Amino acid sequence: MLVSETFSHQEVRGFKFGYNPLGKPVLYSHVYFVDGLLIDTGHIKIKESFLKRTQNLDVQKVFITHHHEDHTGNLQGIKEQKEVEIFCSPLCQELMKNPPDLSLAQKLTWGDRPPFYDFTTIEDKIETINHRFEIIPIPGHAKDMVALYERDKKWLFSADLYINSFIGYFLENESIQDQINSTKRILELDFEAMFCAHNPQFKNPKAKLAKKLDFLESSFEAVKNLHNQGLNPKQIFDQLPWKEDWFIRFLSGGQLSKFNMVKSIVRDIESK
Ligand SMILES: [Zn+2]
Repeated sequence: MLVSETFSHQEVRGFKFGYNPLGKPVLYSHVYFVDGLLIDTGHIKIKESFLKRTQNLDVQKVFITHHHEDHTGNLQGIKEQKEVEIFCSPLCQELMKNPPDLSLAQKLTWGDRPPFYDFTTIEDKIETINHRFEIIPIPGHAKDMVALYERDKKWLFSADLYINSFIGYFLENESIQDQINSTKRILELDFEAMFCAHNPQFKNPKAKLAKKLDFLESSFEAVKNLHNQGLNPKQIFDQLPWKEDWFIRFLSGGQLSKFNMVKSIVRDIESK
């Protein structure tokens, strides 16, 4: 089933896409457009409806928040349609030259994406006619991930920092410690709208993000306590109330799971 909807929040237009070969989409992807700037491109499974939505937009620049397949899936498509400059961080550019392999679960949900080379790298800010967006590194979920912050408007384009107040599945190479640090950095900013790539928040976004921080910190503490008692990651997981979604874990060949969260925390503790 394919879902494609649009909405507006102040001057920002949001495009919401969902795809699931088996039924209702579980997680939606959002692409934002403001003042000529298109932020992210969604995944390849929504290519047609994405390009239909962007067809009549006056896109001047494209910005990519991180290299994941649900943000970079239609780079080639938008480049062919608009012939515009595509911006990203130097780290994102590096990763997109040879994107990491995806699991079967990821390929089924969002599809793969080929390498892409045609970027202009940018680090401090990206400007449009009426706005200035500060580029803020928020590593953790992905090491190249950045947020865009429009200080005057109090808009935060938070990529995948939030998604929800808890985490259902954790990617193999995510870092919780980095996510905690990034979330704290973002919570120091004054913002009233959080344009999350999967779950936008226009009411009390800071309180919601603070709840996520709580979840991350308490998870970290719980694992740390058990690790200090000499338990290994598997023993730690068995002691925790976290329930694994074995279907997802199996389909992803272990790349997506709750167990990864334990492993990530142990990795963070041991590397300190
Ligand atoms: Zn992501």
